[in-house]
Amino acid sequence: MAAKGDMLYAWTTSPDIAGVAECGGAVTGLLKFALENGIVDAVLAVKKGVDIYDAIPTLVTDPADMAETAGSLHCGTLLLSKLLKKYLDGAENMRIGITVKGCDAMGLYELAKRNQVNLDNVLMIGVNCGGSVSPVTARKMIREKFGVDPDDVVKEEIDKGQFIIQTKDGQHKGISMDELEDEGYGRRPNCRRCKMKVPRQADLACGNWGVIGDKAGKATFVEVCSDRGADLLSRAVKAGAIATEPANPKGVEIRGKVENSMLKLGDKWRNRYFESLGEGKERLQKIMEDSSRCTKCYACIEHCPICYCVECSTKKTYLVPPGVLPVPFMFHLIRYAHVADSCVNCGQCEEDCPMEIANSLYMHSLQVEMEKMFGHTPGVNMELPVLALVEEHAERERLASTGSDQIFDIFK
Ligand code: FAD
Ligand code: SF4
Ligand code: SF4
Ligand code: SF4
Ligand code: SF4
Repeated sequence: MAAKGDMLYAWTTSPDIAGVAECGGAVTGLLKFALENGIVDAVLAVKKGVDIYDAIPTLVTDPADMAETAGSLHCGTLLLSKLLKKYLDGAENMRIGITVKGCDAMGLYELAKRNQVNLDNVLMIGVNCGGSVSPVTARKMIREKFGVDPDDVVKEEIDKGQFIIQTKDGQHKGISMDELEDEGYGRRPNCRRCKMKVPRQADLACGNWGVIGDKAGKATFVEVCSDRGADLLSRAVKAGAIATEPANPKGVEIRGKVENSMLKLGDKWRNRYFESLGEGKERLQKIMEDSSRCTKCYACIEHCPICYCVECSTKKTYLVPPGVLPVPFMFHLIRYAHVADSCVNCGQCEEDCPMEIANSLYMHSLQVEMEKMFGHTPGVNMELPVLALVEEHAERERLASTGSDQIFDIFK
């Protein structure tokens, strides 16, 4: 019987999944088991579209289709949590199994606080995440740094600090991520700053870090993070869908060291990015200049896991007059005031901005300052945010009692 806190090597017993999985196929095997046995009604995961740059969110209801979702797409920059809220009614009336990166899990927690997702109905299988690469950057990087036609690449992976590609003719080529990132390629800026490497808010946290010896590449490292996760794993093992063995203690140690070095790297990038913004009025000036290119397309709001309001304040014409360019800065100020203390640094508002405004950097820089002021870390538990709106009907009362205008002190 598995228990919360266990660390295991796990692998699927299905040859169909093993042949296409990233490593042990435990993630796909467990989700398939949950679907087959009525533990969930559907699985929300990601599958490859026309090429490796095309990550498609997919809802699976037939267990026979689960193998299509196996494998890691490092150019998959999508956020499943907002999709679950928008298109699956926040799991209100359906039990959903979902694969979550750190930002997906954090987004789900923030949405749950706002009653937009019913976590009781969500089975979260977490995947460790070193970062994802924007498809546009990946294509450019592969052409310019690897000297390879991006359409010739059939597989990519991030391993031992390298971005590695495999081409149609079976050639492998890897370049260190540090080198790529120093030259402006590599992971998305928000991923460089991210410190949610092992999503322990999920029911299970799965990855390849720490799998050593004869199981390297053939097993998934699983950390059991909840009783629900323990129950799923125990049942899948009992039914013969998943095989496990205790994780090698040396592997556990290595995994801990890699995680710590990734956290330090996150701090390094935070310092670098935040210092480049300057402080106080200088920072505000930079943000105002960059955001003056905004065309008010609302993509940042549409994809943000914190934004859910039916009547968004940015659409109130007395606050942000329509048809005016540049868009009044009030548009962005509203977002900062409503979202900043809960921003999970998922990067959607930057990735999807047609004007390439560094929205996520600005919001994340504010979030980190507010975390220092109020001690609230978004996305890790169900603790309510200090300033953000979590229930529309309580909006006025909450703002009055918390003094939401303190956010603007950051710019003094
Ligand atoms: P599989 O059975 O192959 O299942 C993989 C699951 O991931 C599927 O459900 C699939 O739909 C889902 N998926 C694929 N791409 C995405 C995506 N872009 N976003 C959300 N879900 C996706 N592990 C580490 O130990 N260290 C790392 O640095 C690390 N970085 C990662 C970065 C990314 C962007 C991703 C997606 C995964 C990363 N992982 C990392 C996890 C690792 O690649 C495997 O997913 C994990 O070990 C589980 O292996 P598996 O064989 O059991 O998974
Ligand atoms: Fe992974 Fe963090 Fe980037 Fe999300 S923000 S894709 S968890 S590195
Ligand atoms: Fe403006 Fe960019 Fe947001 Fe669109 S996505 S509203 S252009 S900041
Ligand atoms: Fe993600 Fe941007 Fe919203 Fe922050 S503000 S949670 S980075 S979409
Ligand atoms: Fe709009 Fe603010 Fe609600 Fe986001 S949180 S949807 S910006 S009103």
